Amino acid sequence: MNGCKVYLKKGKEESLLRFHPWVFSGAVAFIEGEPAEGDVVEVYIPLPSVLPLRERDTSFNSYIKESSKGECRNIATSKGEFIGVGHYQVGSIAVRILSFTPVEIDVSFWAERIRQAWQLRQSLGLVAGGANNIYRLINGEGDSLPGLIIDIYAKTAVIQAHSAGMHRARHDIAKALLEVFGCDIHRVFYKSEGTLPFRANLGEENEYLFNNDKDAPPIAIENGMIFQIDWLRGQKTGYYIDQRDNRDLLKKYANNRSVLNMFCYTGGFSVYALKGGATLVHSVDSSAKAISITNDNVALNFPGDSRHQAFTDDAFHYLENIVGQYDLIVLDPPAFAKHKNVVRNALQGYRKLNAIAIKNIREGGLIFTFSCSQIVSKNDFRLAVFSAAAQAGRSVRILHQMTQPADHPINIYHPEGEYLKGLVLMVSG
Ligand code: SAH
Repeated sequence: MNGCKVYLKKGKEESLLRFHPWVFSGAVAFIEGEPAEGDVVEVYIPLPSVLPLRERDTSFNSYIKESSKGECRNIATSKGEFIGVGHYQVGSIAVRILSFTPVEIDVSFWAERIRQAWQLRQSLGLVAGGANNIYRLINGEGDSLPGLIIDIYAKTAVIQAHSAGMHRARHDIAKALLEVFGCDIHRVFYKSEGTLPFRANLGEENEYLFNNDKDAPPIAIENGMIFQIDWLRGQKTGYYIDQRDNRDLLKKYANNRSVLNMFCYTGGFSVYALKGGATLVHSVDSSAKAISITNDNVALNFPGDSRHQAFTDDAFHYLENIVGQYDLIVLDPPAFAKHKNVVRNALQGYRKLNAIAIKNIREGGLIFTFSCSQIVSKNDFRLAVFSAAAQAGRSVRILHQMTQPADHPINIYHPEGEYLKGLVLMVSG
């Protein structure tokens, strides 16, 4: 540890005392030392004894006023009430808390957290070898490791860093993974392209941190079905694990239905629909690469099955021409909004997309519709779908409400972690 200490403004500790793991930059009164991007720092509530000598006899409030102007960086003593230890970063989130008790952030720390997360996934029945070896091992704040994602694909772990601190800790995290998993992990791939804070200028990296099995095919199993995972070039860590339970739900409804999997990417929903007994499955994506991955995954599970066809096309264009063709439509678009100021446009996008699908699906048809935009709330999404139904002028009922699975846990004190929401709609009339 570099000894840097971050002191909070009065009253700004409240959410932290409720275990919300972020310290916003506006909550920082002053910093002792000069932490670099990604340094481990300790966070304190200042006690009167830490006030600079010239401030001791003034009130705490006036001190805080002064300190927030950035005038009190040299502190006579460094006492305060310990709040937590975390990664420092320049930006609106100044510190991401890793522990609310004092602890050294070293390989043993990472190993302990990884071990706890692995035990949870084991207890959930997700580490099931022959039946399932695809799961999220670390889900950021949901596993008390803000800024870190680790996905497991058979014997490969893919690490994704969303903060400067996790980027700098990547080699220790890889060591800890190998310590906990032993020979159950053969490869550790680090994929931070597009996820690191660009202002920190850390140099994005996609590289193996450990590779003991260069020739093993990138194949893994989800609920008994086989998928090829492209962690080298694919989106996110290579596969959308968060839809596993929703794919399973779709399998239950696919029997004797004609299915359109819109925004198919790796074809996960398509494979489950075939498994569930769909009469035909059409997969559509605007990316030709996604269509090729989908065809490969269908062929791995259902070689030569003529029920499946895949098309490279734009969603809005394709959906205009499908009147009465499908009994079940999946709409799983990419995040339409990544920043708060574009939420309105995103909601219009969801409304437009859902309105065409509701208008053109067969009588009695089902729509599995999703939003993975973190900043679009569950209510806003539901409102967008409501407007879509009203615009299409058909009778629509909600049969299921969907979310992310148990290996994407949400820290109850950090509701921002709940990003995936979905509805199963039945359209009649
Ligand atoms: N349902 C997928 C994940 C979808 S990711 C799964 O279960 O794995 C979103 C996909 O939408 C990406 O593959 C992207 O290529 C595709 N996409 C983005 N814009 C599109 C558009 N306008 N029309 C069709 N596909 C689009």
